[in-house]
Amino acid sequence: MDAPIDLRSDTVTRPTEAMRAAMARAEVGDDVYGEDPTVAALEERVAALLGHEAALFTPTGSMANVLALRTVVGVGQEVLCEASAHIARAELGAHAAYTGVTMRTWHHPRGGVDLPTVERMFAPDLGPYFVPTAAIALENTHNFAGGTVVPLEDLRAVRAFADAQGCAVHLDGARIWNAHVASGVDLATYGGLVDVGAVCLSKGLGAPVGSLVFGSADAIAESRTWRKRMGGGMRQVGVLAAAGLHALDHHVERLADDHAHAKRLAEACGVDPDGVDTNIVVVEVDGPGGAADVVRRAAEQGVRVGAVGARTLRVVTHLDVDTAQVDRAASVLAGLLAA
Ligand SMILES: *Cc1c(COP(=O)(O)O)cnc(C)c1O
Repeated sequence: MDAPIDLRSDTVTRPTEAMRAAMARAEVGDDVYGEDPTVAALEERVAALLGHEAALFTPTGSMANVLALRTVVGVGQEVLCEASAHIARAELGAHAAYTGVTMRTWHHPRGGVDLPTVERMFAPDLGPYFVPTAAIALENTHNFAGGTVVPLEDLRAVRAFADAQGCAVHLDGARIWNAHVASGVDLATYGGLVDVGAVCLSKGLGAPVGSLVFGSADAIAESRTWRKRMGGGMRQVGVLAAAGLHALDHHVERLADDHAHAKRLAEACGVDPDGVDTNIVVVEVDGPGGAADVVRRAAEQGVRVGAVGARTLRVVTHLDVDTAQVDRAASVLAGLLAA
């Protein structure tokens, strides 16, 4: 049988030959001493792309989210976010464990913002018995809602509300590249609507490791100290930053291919392709065995997909699956879901 077609996540990609060559060539130095030119170049590049003063390279997006949020939310304060946000569901309580932050959540079917609800929840100063709200966190694209792009007008409405209230806005932009390619909205426009944020190089961009925090020079200086405190000070890490720079040069515009592939898979899975904005398809499973049964049977036919709920599958396209593989996966999944 051919090698399995792995659609569990866009994190499963392996560095391309060209990326490996760029990594091998990278100029490096000790980044804890601030002496790695490739890391510095990546940090400057990402800060400029997002329209912020500075950025900081981190091993993971989870660490980037923790570092970013802790610059705007203190111990015993809260952040408001969507109910299935990655920061709430998939960072294993990091924000509570490290920063002493609590979260309250709103629900939105596409992972977006319901501003009237956010306005009702917002409570910066209700007296000594209530946790004060310090920030609103957005996720764009929204992972568990299915790679959905948050509409620009909703982001602008949140910014206006936050400005009026003196509240901070955080962006979990793990897949902001996908949002940018799908919507045509500039990265700097997205960046300009938030105080701090995180982006990942290890998802659709296909780097093996790496994320960044972006924000003001002060926020990033503070994040640098906390990164070291958390054990995330890295040395000759330009070899990894080089993969990120290569990805920014070569793997952003091609995300459009992943998005087209996701629409094909959606159609095969009985999901409305118009609801699939980027590279993630969420499929509700009717059959008696639920999502786990489809995962097992697809694997038997050489197609790997993930279960993100008892009846919910997640199918993700990426750099390492081409159109022929997408078509083969589509026919396997169509057969299983129709049965
Ligand atoms: C992947 C992801 C992250 C960060 O994940 P790490 O595995 O810690 O790099 C953060 N937010 C979202 C929405 C993600 O999909």
